Amino acid sequence: MVTFAIVGRPNVGKSTLFNRLIGRQHAIVDDQPGVTRDRREGDGRLAGLRFRIIDTAGLEEASDGSLEDRMRYQTELAIVGADVTLLVVDARVGITPVDKFFAGEIRKSGAHVILVCNKCEGKIGASGVAESWTLGLGEPVAISAAHGEGLVDLHDAMLEAADKQGLAGVLTGDDILTTHEDDDDLPDNDAEAPLDADGNPVDVWQDEAGKQPMRIAIVGRPNMGKSTLINSLLDEDRLLVGPEAGITRDAIELPFEWQGRPYKLVDTAGMRRRARVVDKVEKLMVDDALRAIQYAHLCVLLIDATEELHKQDLSIARLIANEGRAIVIGANKWDAVRNKQESAMQISDRLKTSMSQLKGVPVVQMSGLHKKGLGNLLKAADDMYAVWNTRVSTGRLNRWLEIMLEAHPPPLVEGRRLRIRYITQIKTRPPTFALFVSRPADLPDSYLRYLSTGLRNDFGLRGIPIRMVMRKRE
Ligand code: GDP
Ligand code: GDP
Repeated sequence: MVTFAIVGRPNVGKSTLFNRLIGRQHAIVDDQPGVTRDRREGDGRLAGLRFRIIDTAGLEEASDGSLEDRMRYQTELAIVGADVTLLVVDARVGITPVDKFFAGEIRKSGAHVILVCNKCEGKIGASGVAESWTLGLGEPVAISAAHGEGLVDLHDAMLEAADKQGLAGVLTGDDILTTHEDDDDLPDNDAEAPLDADGNPVDVWQDEAGKQPMRIAIVGRPNMGKSTLINSLLDEDRLLVGPEAGITRDAIELPFEWQGRPYKLVDTAGMRRRARVVDKVEKLMVDDALRAIQYAHLCVLLIDATEELHKQDLSIARLIANEGRAIVIGANKWDAVRNKQESAMQISDRLKTSMSQLKGVPVVQMSGLHKKGLGNLLKAADDMYAVWNTRVSTGRLNRWLEIMLEAHPPPLVEGRRLRIRYITQIKTRPPTFALFVSRPADLPDSYLRYLSTGLRNDFGLRGIPIRMVMRKRE
């Protein structure tokens, strides 16, 4: 089994993360006061991954040795005992000298590491996440161990780290099925260079993780046709393996293929349970939708094209955008729409005027019941997924920024011109940009909107949520 070890300074949430990864049944292993928790180990699981996990949290409480000795010991233990080290930092507190110490030790050792920024629920830790880049350990993964947020990104990072050591198959259990002969049949991913509007290759690239099958959640209000659509997608699939047994407590993945391409549908326990629950339907719906959204890469928001767009449709769209997921809207039950032209206009007008984040989101006319438009739906999903994985080079971004600043300089605040120094993309999925500004607090929202609209239009990022974080740089 692939082994992960959790290291980091006291109080960053190592034990909380450990408990989340091993699941409820082990959550109170020898955690009594007085017992030396020098090292806890357990079988971890996260979505399709199965692994061994070591928690080093107790080490800092050992009474002998200087703090530095104990930290060095903690790191050594992790490096010797694990294939991949998870260095946890507290995004709310920001980077401390002790975090730097750990990062330094890990870098020196050459261990495979994933930098985990914890306590990021509700987007609170954004500046801490940006700051953690200074540790020089690559792209941080923002999570909330306590609230279970960001687990999809953690999952992807773990898979990627294992993949670098040729262990991805061990982690997913797929190695049992894989033979080397099959490798020749795999499509050549490099052949699929992204193209711009004119059909020319552009210098963006897909994340390694972007080559994993896309996880799609079908979300929407009750009665929009979600179950029908899921059945139609799975029906079509001759290679259906069936639900993978107990992927997590919260969600299962249903693998399927469409025209030779693999996908996974995310289904939550609550969604399946819902039919039998009469009360609390409303709350369950939001909880389930949110959980499915968090496990997914892309959400298909189903609306009923025979009805007016509902306030709740937009609330769900907002949830998806806030979670930073890619989105495609399925205008379902199109077979039953009487005036198709008028209806199409109405839907697109209503979407455009009610939520700016939905500009550029594809709306696919379809019928889950009659299996119409499903190919278009998945094609739109593929396209949006690619955009969601976009990375723009720092060179291009800064050439662009120069033009933007010249066309429309930042405002004077108290007689002083605000300086915008630099922009760089710090994350994909969704694309996240850091803007280095002399006085971040003084940058008006309107100017930030000017820049983010420009980014969307000029780099083909329309229709997906993008994020901007500001950092102070004199
Ligand atoms: P450890 O010393 O690194 O093992 O940290 P613990 O797991 O014991 O957590 C330290 C404190 O941080 C506890 O009070 C946790 O409840 C809290 N904590 C852990 N994860 C999170 C999180 O994701 N968000 C917030 N707000 N608090 C967290
Ligand atoms: P869910 O609650 O979102 O899972 O919705 P269901 O899949 O249970 O569908 C709700 C109702 O809409 C059922 O009566 C379906 O037969 C109907 N329905 C689903 N898809 C379509 C469609 O494409 N066209 C039409 N006309 N009816 C549909």
